[in-house]
Amino acid sequence: MIKYCCDWFNRLIEQAGEKGSSIVAYRDGEHRSFYLQTRPFEKDVIEKYNSIDEKTGNNKWPDLYDKREIPVPWVFALNIPIKFCPQCGTNLEKIIKKNKKEFDRIATEMENYQK
Ligand SMILES: [Zn+2]
Repeated sequence: MIKYCCDWFNRLIEQAGEKGSSIVAYRDGEHRSFYLQTRPFEKDVIEKYNSIDEKTGNNKWPDLYDKREIPVPWVFALNIPIKFCPQCGTNLEKIIKKNKKEFDRIATEMENYQK
């Protein structure tokens, strides 16, 4: 198990994939980083609206438009890459380097939460 820098970071990494703020581990090849992520919806809300409406054959998310009637996409996660813990200032790259294998395992587990 990775020893993170502080209780705040521990709490937020436990929240990955849930509504609200969390920390997500992200890996793309040899690029590894953490994101501070905010998700606006509970998982069951997303599941409900992603399901297909039998009448229309589309998902159940209502279409959104701006004032000019241009379609506005739904946003399911906002990601901010972080190099230092926002709470205690620890250099997160050092934690990643020290725990590469475990970091990769966690990043794989969190793959569905990266967007
Ligand atoms: Zn910290």
